[in-house]
Amino acid sequence: MIIELFDTTYIPRRLFCIGRNYVAHAEELGNLVPESPVVFMKPPTCLVPRGAPILPPAHGDDLHFETELVILIGTEGRANSVEEALVFVEGLSLGLDLTLRDVQSALKAKGLPWEKAKAFDGSAPLGSFIPFDDSMDLADISFTCDVNGQRRQNGHTANMIFSIPTLIMELSAIWSLKPGDLIFTGTPEGVGPLRAGDTITIANTRIGSFSWEVQAK
Ligand code: ZN
Repeated sequence: MIIELFDTTYIPRRLFCIGRNYVAHAEELGNLVPESPVVFMKPPTCLVPRGAPILPPAHGDDLHFETELVILIGTEGRANSVEEALVFVEGLSLGLDLTLRDVQSALKAKGLPWEKAKAFDGSAPLGSFIPFDDSMDLADISFTCDVNGQRRQNGHTANMIFSIPTLIMELSAIWSLKPGDLIFTGTPEGVGPLRAGDTITIANTRIGSFSWEVQAK
């Protein structure tokens, strides 16, 4: 999959995903509010473009949607301040951090890594990007998720525990960022299951509206 952004293209590198970045979502899953960002990764082979089907994996039963604002990184290096962090933001999109909740709960109970629950093939449906410019306030972006026409999630980035510039600073302190890196910035409350035949639509007035259909196993 290639990420198109006007006349530039990016090959996705790493998908950094942030867990528990909205208080109400951390609470709905019975998790504590973290003191520093919870980070996990998915390989770029997880991405599902618009129009392709969501294929439920065979190794779990409870496939959950998590709607997230996604940041495309366009600059190499590390950010040491909010101002520097904004320079790294090339584009904005929306995506889904699909999660096998039953598999994740079993892994969490044993203290094991989450990849089987979150980094399986097809676990990262992703919309198209709009370019970021300084007129956009990253702390004032709302987005929605509908399943079969019913509103399931209403997100607003003002409710993030760790702001987007903070996430960029925290990530880049550990991993020198590269063009093509993606940050899935965490989901608000309202996550829930997807079943065969469902249509999921995630949208923001400026970024766009993106839909996927869930296939049968
Ligand atoms: Zn997530």
